[in-house]
Amino acid sequence: MNIMLLGAPGSGKGTLAEKLIKNQGFNQMSTGDLMRKEINDKTPLGIECARYMNEGRLVPDEVTMGIVKNFLQDNHNQLIFDGIPRTLNQAKILEENLIELNAKIDKVIYIDVPSEILLNRISGRLVCPKCKVSYHIISRKPKLEGICDNDGTELVRRPDDAPEKVKVRLEAYANETAPLVDYYKNKPGFIHIVDNANTTAEEVYAEVLGAL
Ligand SMILES: [Zn+2]
Repeated sequence: MNIMLLGAPGSGKGTLAEKLIKNQGFNQMSTGDLMRKEINDKTPLGIECARYMNEGRLVPDEVTMGIVKNFLQDNHNQLIFDGIPRTLNQAKILEENLIELNAKIDKVIYIDVPSEILLNRISGRLVCPKCKVSYHIISRKPKLEGICDNDGTELVRRPDDAPEKVKVRLEAYANETAPLVDYYKNKPGFIHIVDNANTTAEEVYAEVLGAL
């Protein structure tokens, strides 16, 4: 079974993916890692990819999805697609690639979180630079303010999590990725999880397992 995760930044997709990987034997496909590998191996797609990146331009869908397609040849089961596809165009290319391999996205899990909650959640987030665990100034405080429980490292806010950056990320999501929800919502296998402010990551996970 292959799963796609949809949801805005801060919706808890990453945490859900971690649980599915750890407990249910799924594998995550990271386009960032795949791109780095193609670039290191100096494949034609890697060379093209590096050219766009060096020029500070967005890597076009044909290149990104070409790299994904190469990966899928040998790996097209028990995958979690998170952050890819990012656009409707990428989704359609991915679908065609999977059909050629006799595979498909079996379940699309959409974590639906109101935008004001997302904004609070992300702008209150702090992470440990050492062990990467994340905390929140209100909902998941460390035992000592500003200090990681695991290793005593001083917590930091990721530059991307600053409120003005978060607004930009949420707008980009609304423009690019939100249309994917409309595209998938009437198809079989669509799972709609509503996360109001009090839903915990465990509750989301339990609901997903029930639906799978
Ligand atoms: Zn830590």
